[in-house]
Formats: sequence, structure tokens, C-alpha cells
Amino acid sequence: MGKLGTALGFLAGLIFAGVMFVAAPGEFLSAAGAASGGPQAWSPTQPFPHHDVYYPGTEALKPDEMRVVACGTGMPQPRLKQAAACLLVELGNGDKFIFDMGEGSYERITALGIPVDQLDKVFLGHLHLDHAGDFPAFWLTRAINAGRSPIRLWGPEGVRKEWGTKAWVDYLHKAWGWESASRGAAVDPRATKVDVKEFDWKAINAVVYDENGVVIRTIPAIHSDQSVSFILEWNGLRLAFSSDTMPNKWWIEHTRGVDLSVHECVLPPELWVERYGMDPTGAVYAGTQGHTTPAAFGKVMAMTKPKHAVAYHFQNDFDTAPIVEAAIRTTYDGPLDLATDFMVWNVTKAGVRTRMAVPNHERYPEPVQQETMPSDMDNAYRWDPINFEGVEPETAAVINRVLAEFNEKFGTKVEPTLTGVPFKNQQ
Ligand SMILES: [Zn+2]
Ligand SMILES: [Zn+2]
Repeated sequence: MGKLGTALGFLAGLIFAGVMFVAAPGEFLSAAGAASGGPQAWSPTQPFPHHDVYYPGTEALKPDEMRVVACGTGMPQPRLKQAAACLLVELGNGDKFIFDMGEGSYERITALGIPVDQLDKVFLGHLHLDHAGDFPAFWLTRAINAGRSPIRLWGPEGVRKEWGTKAWVDYLHKAWGWESASRGAAVDPRATKVDVKEFDWKAINAVVYDENGVVIRTIPAIHSDQSVSFILEWNGLRLAFSSDTMPNKWWIEHTRGVDLSVHECVLPPELWVERYGMDPTGAVYAGTQGHTTPAAFGKVMAMTKPKHAVAYHFQNDFDTAPIVEAAIRTTYDGPLDLATDFMVWNVTKAGVRTRMAVPNHERYPEPVQQETMPSDMDNAYRWDPINFEGVEPETAAVINRVLAEFNEKFGTKVEPTLTGVPFKNQQ
């Protein structure tokens, strides 16, 4: 094997073994050298695989391992640093689940380089915009992101039928009717389908999903009704995700001792006044009723004693984090992370490892995972004739030259500018 091959093999070995410090003969000093704080050789040409961070797409998931990535940890107020609520869960059996899809989260998910056909199971804890706002974009751009399969969506029934998840998806279909019609001929029809499963939001510890060794249950959340929290169980590992809730007895009873407990924790009410410009009554109401204030988050974790606690759903900054943590520490002294976007937890029976992911900012869609279904040109949307009237001869000549070259190179038979487009008056 050549030097590069050896180095790559060595790197792959490291990745799959999850080993931090190993030396390749002649390349690096020994682990003992590194551990003792002595000098470390560093090859000028070979990688030094010191994985204190998670590079998506470089680590195989072990058969008994769960990886959880925070794809949204913020608030409804948009910000570059933190999208709204979203948790991606990957299991060693190959299953992947998305819990909540708040605004901005879809971008984070795609930056992890996972084909969208592997992301076909979405669970929404409630239909607030900061927990569901990016679902329409995920759904409607799925086909042009190399998606070739339907989405399965789980969400709560409504207090009124028209507020439930099924009605919500029906309304989305209608609201984006022209989007779907005008793209229809160019996309794989399977990727535009959503299979909705509504569940009773008042059910306590009820199973809403049971496949392939994975069981997902819901418990009611205290958050203006039709809201739930989720508990996922697989391979002896348990993950709890609150979506939005005030501390409640169902969470206390059913999430005791979970491996990873991801619970909302909003900023203390003073900061709702200071940072959000809210009036004090609105601030203390919203910040303590239907949500979880940091000291109460700590109390929940002290009572449930998860292996690892994660606080999310606040602007996690240099000046807010110490305030939030100090309040949590008045009631809880166990393992804790204050989540921000791209925080990653690798969960096994041996424990939880927290790192930050280094996302891909230059992402293109991953390759298609299955055969593409030809588009239905016979039922294609018909353009208005005004488009044809608008064609300008000199630019059309340039386009037609590009088109002719493409047709010759790829064997396609697309007609010159717009003459192949189905117009209304041709029906
Ligand atoms: Zn909410
Ligand atoms: Zn929320």
C-alpha cells in the first residue's frame, strides 16, 4: 500500500475505532508522548486526525450508538447563529428522525450532508412556527434536493379539527398550490407526498411509532394545548425531547433516568423585557407560563436525573449563558449542556459525548438514492401565451445556441426557446 493509502487506511481506522490518539509508524509520535505533554510530530503532508469536533459524513455510526444533532436551538426571533427548534436523531440501525422543524432549521439539516430520502420521518411536538415553520420548505423542495420518496409526518390532533396536523398539511397543499402545479412536471411526484399521522395530544405515554426496534411515545405538554413531548427508546437507550412545555408531572414521571434529556429552557423573564422589548406582564407570563424558566429547568433535571441534560430554546450567547447556567445551578448539579446549533451528542450505554459539528457551508444535494420517476409532461402546467410574446429575439438566439450544444452533447431533444413549452392556447 502506498503512503497515501496507508495514511487513509490509518485515518479510517481511527474514525471507525473512535480513537483519539494513535500513532502511525514514522508519522506521529506515540500516544504516550502526546499524553505526557511531550513534543508531538506533525506531518507536513498527512492529516492529524484529532477529532475534538464532528465532521459530518466522516464517522460511521456504531450499531449500538445514537447520534443527536441540534439543528435549531433558538427562539422564534430569527438569527443567523441559531435556528428555531429542531433535533435530528440518527440511530445505529440506520433510522433517522427529525423532531420539530422550526424556521431556519432545514438549512442546518442539509449542511450535514444526509440524502433527503433518508430523512423521511418528521415528528412535530406542536404547530408553532418556531417548531414547524421550515416543514413546508423541506417538503416542497424535497424533489429538487434529490428526494424520490414521500415524507411521513406525525403531529397532534387539533383542539379544533382545522387546527390539527392533517388540516395544517391540507392548508399547506392549498396555499402552495401554484408552487406545486408550476413545478409539477419537473419533479419526482413521489417526493411531494406527505403521509400524515395524527395522534391524541392528551394521551399519556402513548406509543405513536413502533418500527424496526424503535418506539416513540408522547406525553402531553403544558403549552397552550395540542402540544406534546416525545420519548424515543431504542436498543436500551432513551432520548426525551420536550418541544415546548412548562415543567409537568408527565415529564417528571416518564423521563426519569433517560440517557439524553433535551428540554426547553427560555431566558429568565427580566431578559424578555430587556432583549425582546416586551412589557413586564407579557414577559413574565410568556417566560414562566407554558415555558420553562432556567431555575425550573434545573429542578426538572434534579428530579428526573437523566444521564445528560440539555437546555435549549434560548439565545445562547456569551452574556446570556452565564445567567442561564447560574439559575439552573441553583437547583441542579448534574451533567449539563447549554445547546447551540450544531452541538452533537453521541449516546451509547457507556455515556454521552458532546462535540460541535463543523457543517458544510457549500452544500449541493446529495446523489439520488433511487431511480428517478419520469415527470408527467402530459399533465404539465400550461403557461400563459404572454410568456411567448415576451421572448426577445437576440437573447433567444443565444439561448438556442446553448440549447443546441447541450442537445448534441447529451442527446436531448429540447425545442428552441419556449416553443416546446405547453401553452394554454394549445390545449
Ligand atoms: Zn410553542
Ligand atoms: Zn417554541
